[in-house]
Amino acid sequence: MPTNVRRFDLEDNPGNGIDRGAKKNHRSLRTDYGQIHIAPAPEQFASEQMHDSYGRRIHYLRISLTDACNLRCVYCMPEQMAFQPRHELMTDEEILFLVKVGASLGVEKIRLTGGEPTIRPGVVDLVRNIAAIPGVQDLAMTTNALLLDRLAGPLAAAGLDRVNISIDTLDANKFHHITRWGHIDDLWRGIEAVEAAGLCPVKLNTVVIRGFNDGQDVVDLAGLTQERNWEVRFIEMMPFGQVSDFQQTNVVSYQEIRQTVEAEFGPLEEVSYDFVDPSRPFRIPGAKGTLGFISSVTEPFCQGCGRVRLTADGKLRLCLLRDDEVDLLTPMRGGASFEEMRSLMREGAFHKPWGHGLANGVFANNRAMNQIGG
Ligand code: SAM
Repeated sequence: MPTNVRRFDLEDNPGNGIDRGAKKNHRSLRTDYGQIHIAPAPEQFASEQMHDSYGRRIHYLRISLTDACNLRCVYCMPEQMAFQPRHELMTDEEILFLVKVGASLGVEKIRLTGGEPTIRPGVVDLVRNIAAIPGVQDLAMTTNALLLDRLAGPLAAAGLDRVNISIDTLDANKFHHITRWGHIDDLWRGIEAVEAAGLCPVKLNTVVIRGFNDGQDVVDLAGLTQERNWEVRFIEMMPFGQVSDFQQTNVVSYQEIRQTVEAEFGPLEEVSYDFVDPSRPFRIPGAKGTLGFISSVTEPFCQGCGRVRLTADGKLRLCLLRDDEVDLLTPMRGGASFEEMRSLMREGAFHKPWGHGLANGVFANNRAMNQIGG
C-alpha cells in the first residue's frame, strides 16, 4: 500500500458519511452478486477542472472495460490467466456514472481498453452512452481489431472517434506465436472495416521486443507508412508484475528502434506536434503516413501526463507504472452520492505521483497490463 495515497473505501473510512444502504432516489440494481445502490447522476452538470499536486491538469481517463482478452500475447499475460469474476467488475451503469463524475471534473478525453474492450457484451451501447455524456469530446479505443470486422461500423455510428490497433509483426506465423492464438487475417479485415467506417487516422501500436521483432519486423511495419496515411507507433516494452524480469531484459530503446528504421530508410524527418501526446512523430522522407516513438522506459514523458486510469474493477489508477490506486467501486456500490464520488476522484487525482520509478528500480507489481488497460 503506497503511503502517499489515502484508501477510500468503506472498511477504512467508516465515518466518511457514505452509507451502504439504499437512499431515497438511489437506483437499486439487482445483480447476480446482490443488490447495489447507485446514486442518481445528473444529466447535466457544471464542469470544473481537476489538477494533481504538481499542477498537471487531469483531463484524460483510460477505462479498462474488461480484464479478459481473446488473445494471450506472451509479454502481456500467461496463457492460463485467471480473470476476475464478473461481480468484481464495473457494470455499464457504474462505468457511465464514473465517466459523468470525471466529465464534471474536466475529463474530456476517454480511451476504452482492456483486456480486449470489443469482447465486452453490449460494448456498442456502452460507447453510445459514453459519447452522449456532456463534456466527452474525444472517445477512442485500443484494440487488437480481431472483432472490428463486424464492430467497426456500429462503433463509429455509436460515437467512437478513433481506434489504436495493436500489431507487433506483419509475419503471420510470428503473429500467431506472439499472440498465442491470433490469426493476422482477422486483424487485416478489422483494419479494412476501420477505414471503411472512417475511424481515422489509423494508428498501429507495436511493442518492440528484443530478439523477437526488433529487426526486419520493425522495418516492415515502418514501411507501411510509405503508401498509407497511417501512424505506426513503436512502444518500448514496460516491466510489470511477475513478468517484469523478461520485460526488462528484452526492452529495446527508442534510440535503437529509430536506428533500425533509419538504417533502412535514411534519416527520419521530424513532424511538429503538441508535446502532449507521448508519441513523438517522424516521417520517412516522402511517406504518406508517420512513425511515432513512445519511449516510456528510457525517456519518460511524465511531466506532460494528464492521464488517470480506471481498472475494470473500478479502481482509479494514478500512474500506469505505479501501484497507487483509489477504490471507487466500493463507495459507489455503497450508495455514495455524485458529489461524494467527485470528491473521491478529485482528491485521488491530486495524489497522482510525479512519474514512474523504473530508473530507481521501482516496479508496479500488483497487476498485469491486461488488468490495468494499456
Ligand atoms: N487488447 C487491446 C489491444 O491489444 O490493444 C487493449 C489492451 S492491451 C493491454 C493495450 C496495449 O498494451 C497493447 O498495444 C499492448 O501491446 C500493450 N502492452 C501490453 N503489455 C505491454 C508492456 N509490458 N509494455 C508495453 N506495452 C504493453
